[in-house]
Amino acid sequence: MKDREQYEQWLQEQSPDAVVIAGENMTTIVPRDREARPICDFCGTVPGSYVFPAHDTTIASVSVLGDNVSVGGWGACDMCKKYIELNDVKALEARAVNLFAQRRGIEPDELLSRSVRTSHRAFFKARIT
Ligand SMILES: [Zn+2]
Repeated sequence: MKDREQYEQWLQEQSPDAVVIAGENMTTIVPRDREARPICDFCGTVPGSYVFPAHDTTIASVSVLGDNVSVGGWGACDMCKKYIELNDVKALEARAVNLFAQRRGIEPDELLSRSVRTSHRAFFKARIT
């Protein structure tokens, strides 16, 4: 564990423009200027038009790919921004699931829904209001 802490400290020193985040299973480096080029973090539509301020957070994985780390604010497109302001999590989720499925050329399924829901829940917890 000590080695890992030293490694993370070393990483941060090498990457002053990035945030080094120690997840449970992995260490992630995320550029700090992410908010300068927001895309919609909710439905994946590009570009996002708005950034909701949020704390850094870990999004638990629903697959074998490992946890994701979200740094800073979340970009949102006009439609997702509207749903978030209305606190309509069901509409937000439905939109994201449908758009993700469409882009991947797959039918929406439970795994995709769960993945989107987990991500959106992490946002509502980390959101700074
Ligand atoms: Zn969106």
